[in-house]
Amino acid sequence: MNPQYGFLIDLDGTMYAGRQRIPYANEFIVLLKELGLPYLFVTNNSSRTPEAVAEHLRHMHIPAEAEEVVTSSQAAAEYIAETYGRGTGVFVVGEEGLRLALEETGLRLVDNAPDVVVQGIDRAFNYDTLSRAAGFIRDGAKYVLTNPDRMLPADGKLHPGAGSLSAAIQSASGIHPTVIGKPHEPIMQHALRQLPKTDQVWVVGDNLWTDIAAGAGAGLRTALVLTGLATKDNVKSQIELSGVTPDRIADHLMQLAEQLMLLPQG
Ligand SMILES: [Mg+2]
Repeated sequence: MNPQYGFLIDLDGTMYAGRQRIPYANEFIVLLKELGLPYLFVTNNSSRTPEAVAEHLRHMHIPAEAEEVVTSSQAAAEYIAETYGRGTGVFVVGEEGLRLALEETGLRLVDNAPDVVVQGIDRAFNYDTLSRAAGFIRDGAKYVLTNPDRMLPADGKLHPGAGSLSAAIQSASGIHPTVIGKPHEPIMQHALRQLPKTDQVWVVGDNLWTDIAAGAGAGLRTALVLTGLATKDNVKSQIELSGVTPDRIADHLMQLAEQLMLLPQG
């Protein structure tokens, strides 16, 4: 018999590209449901709430509930609460998904003298935000970054991501942040605590530098799907460039299901 598998599944480039569902995304999720295999969606995106992410998926006819979504904001909130205590005062550079996650975790959002500066993507970021965040960090506040992504693909263009804003804060404060999102450990540890225990956990994603590196770093099995950043044409060179080799490579999610013998045989 197969070992029982659990899955940590990336979103962008794996389930969808912007507003477009990726082929076999819904079939794969429906199959996992039928087989009763546990899974979570794990995203570095810090701006959307889990409910908004789930709704986005359902819009594309992929079954999803908020409880099945792990964001870098939730993982950041949990990390701060665990490391510094639930009443910790936090200065937020970010959007709704991050604020909500911090509040729900019992952290205090403050405008002055914070214990921690937490930063995600903030599309209203300006000189004043930079000046205050860097000042708090220089004065001794801890600096936590939701995700290191420097670029954010949307509408066929690349936009600056949380990592690019962080470059400014790091430059102005002289301090490197603790990073929560993939390829770093905290988001994986957070997701693993939420996932029911199974024999073997597979990390599934389209990005060697984030998804696959994070999975390998956490000692999990890794599967690269060639539906996003990695494609048939570039996968060889991306493996060379990243220095990361996945356990499995599949053209799409149902081919991965085949490789893992999840489909009825015969
Ligand atoms: Mg992706």
